[in-house]
Amino acid sequence: MSTGTLHIVATPIGNLADASPRAIEALAQADLIACEDTRTSRTLLARHGIAARVVPLHAHNERAASERLLGALRAGKNVSLISDAGTPAISDPGALLVAAAHREGIRVVPVPGPSAALAAYSASGFAADRFLFVGFLPAARSARRKALAALETACPVIIYEAPHRVLETVGDLCERFGGARELLLARELTKKFEELARLPLADAGAWLLAQPHRQQGELVLVLGPDSTPRAPERVEGERVLGILLKELPASDAARLAARISGLPRAELYALALGKKSKDAG
Ligand code: SAM
Repeated sequence: MSTGTLHIVATPIGNLADASPRAIEALAQADLIACEDTRTSRTLLARHGIAARVVPLHAHNERAASERLLGALRAGKNVSLISDAGTPAISDPGALLVAAAHREGIRVVPVPGPSAALAAYSASGFAADRFLFVGFLPAARSARRKALAALETACPVIIYEAPHRVLETVGDLCERFGGARELLLARELTKKFEELARLPLADAGAWLLAQPHRQQGELVLVLGPDSTPRAPERVEGERVLGILLKELPASDAARLAARISGLPRAELYALALGKKSKDAG
């Protein structure tokens, strides 16, 4: 008997009209639909007259639910995985099931569609050839500040945040990256009260406080890239590193470039690894 297929189906992040015809088809043809919250997903399913069996798969039962779903896939059933909103397994459960399906040679088919991260990024206007998605920062302030201290922000950074923490997080971002750095706040994307504001970090707190509803609903932050001109010794250090990297492994190139330029070896090594993986990709 052949095994079933696992579809990873993106669903709307607010506006139900964003469900793609292919997403509806995958859900309609599924024997089982794995949902984060079956009550939430029933609204979408009912709208499209889909009566497939729903099975809960959420953060608290992910392992056991994945095992059961794997059993069904092995038995030839087709399973569609959805989350409450957006793309499953992006700051949402699902990766365990997907990884297990790959291990067992079960066909995995993505059905792409809405994702709050990409919707916000696409509307940020921060021009860059790469971005960093960090999902949710730690909820505790000290852990969050530590995470921000270690954040590399030469490229734009996409951050998910809960509304009741956003003011504090924006304050931490401002402290870490300075008031001149730009931030996009994208609230309630695709919904009736959608609101986007791109402004310097120094003004972001006041923007959130200007209307009581701005600390409610769902929200994505996109931190703009660091656009401050780099010091001449940094430019020179990176140039030297680039030349050495053509001939030497990353660690040797970083060590020599540090000796020549006076820049910290660890920083140059991180840069060298980044350059190597970019060249390999
Ligand atoms: N997997 C989902 C995706 O692909 O968009 C994200 C799930 S994550 C648990 C939920 C977070 O996504 C929210 O806290 C918020 O940061 C962001 N989010 C989801 N829907 C949103 C919307 N309509 N507008 C703004 N942010 C949203």
